[in-house]
Amino acid sequence: MDYNDLKDLIRHLKSNVTCPVCGKHFMDKDVAIIATMETEAVFQLTCSKCDQLMVVNVSMANNFDGVNAITVNDVIDMHNFLEQFNGDFKNLFKSSK
Ligand SMILES: [Zn+2]
Repeated sequence: MDYNDLKDLIRHLKSNVTCPVCGKHFMDKDVAIIATMETEAVFQLTCSKCDQLMVVNVSMANNFDGVNAITVNDVIDMHNFLEQFNGDFKNLFKSSK
């Protein structure tokens, strides 16, 4: 996944995902990238109105069909991933192409 894919995903998030508590749309500054894989990415969304925190997984595989709230298992997977991850996003992006 490259920078343009990521931008598309974020654009998609902003237009299709709203805060589950207050219904507000998210903006650029509310979106943090947690991880990117080859065809999907994990974002943390923070509502600027009510501070609701939300972690979503977006897949490009089916034309943005799936924006999924993350399950507990996913969080554990991600936790395991982050524990192994050395913080080198440059290499991460390189290897995910
Ligand atoms: Zn909200």
